[in-house]
Formats: sequence, C-alpha cells, structure tokens
Amino acid sequence: MLEQIVLLFYLKMEGFDVIQITCRDNKKIHLPRKEILNLIDQDWFLALLVSNNFGKETENCYSVWEDFNHVMSLIESLRYNELIILESVSLDYLECLADKWCAPEWLIDKIKEKKKEIKLGKNITNINDLVFKCDVCEKGFKNSENTKYSCRSHTYGYSRASECFSCCGNGKESKYCKVGYHISSILNNKLLELNNSD
Ligand SMILES: [Zn+2]
Ligand SMILES: [Zn+2]
Repeated sequence: MLEQIVLLFYLKMEGFDVIQITCRDNKKIHLPRKEILNLIDQDWFLALLVSNNFGKETENCYSVWEDFNHVMSLIESLRYNELIILESVSLDYLECLADKWCAPEWLIDKIKEKKKEIKLGKNITNINDLVFKCDVCEKGFKNSENTKYSCRSHTYGYSRASECFSCCGNGKESKYCKVGYHISSILNNKLLELNNSD
C-alpha cells in the first residue's frame, strides 16, 4: 500500500518535472527532464545542463544563447534518430552547434552529408545554366539541353574541288555524318571536380 502511494507520488512528480529552456530569441522549449536525460546514451550539453544545473535561472528554467529552431532541430533529430531540419536553419550553424554541444557523431556526419548534397545540387544547377563551347562542332550549348542528337558535324572539311565533305562524300546541304552529344572538356572537368569535392 505504502509502496503504491510512493510510486504514484513518484509518477506524479515525474509527470510534472518539465524543464524549460529559453532560447536567445526568447522562444521557450518545454521537455520532460527524463526525455532530455534519455535522448542519447552519451554526455552532451543539454543532459549536463539539466543534471548539473548550468545556466539555471529558477527551478527547472534554463536559458541558452542559441537560436530556437536550431536547438529544436537538434532535439527532434535526436528524438527520431534522423536528421530533422526545421525552417530557416543554417546547416553551418547547426553543425557548429551540434559539435559544441557534443551531439553524437552520426548526427554531425548527417549534417555534413546534407551540406555536401546541397552544395552539389546548387553547383550542378549553376553549371546547367552556363553556355559551353563544344569541342567538336564549336557551337555553344547548355548541359541541360545536350542530347545525343545535339552535336552535328563532319569529321573532315568541305572540299571545293570535289564539292563534298571528304569524310562522307555528302554535299554541302546534306546530312551531317557525325551526330552525338556536344563535348566540352571544360564542362567535363567541372563535373568531375563537383563529384570529387567535399
Ligand atoms: Zn557539338
Ligand atoms: Zn561528313
């Protein structure tokens, strides 16, 4: 009987043991103490904050000089074991915060991966918009519009004497004998660089 009362009292206490973390934009995070302590199996900033009373203002109230959405991104990511990025979050800041708060290595790796993905995507979009000069036909082309029928040329020049192209014997208005993708070594190098960049 007594045990049960103690247990109920304990559960009630647990239920009301909510930590309030005020961020620098004055937005507040409310989380059960238990949840904060059990988020991950290693020592990290928020668990230490709560267990050691760092930066404590009043009972169960703490403040951190960090942005709300970034702190919440870290917390949600840890709760769901998946990188969760809330609105208007800078990945550079998130990575620094994760590092500073001793977040697990997997999370920091995921942030780095995401940064790389975005950088790659952006650069490829930029490259797709640029005009490159084809090494074969010397016409300008965009990577995004390059198809296997885009580049049309003859291997050898037009011979005035025989009034045809010496490669295929076709006359001036005839079909090109060489059809394929436009080729640019500059574009290829840029794409290669992107694939190898960190
Ligand atoms: Zn071409
Ligand atoms: Zn030809």
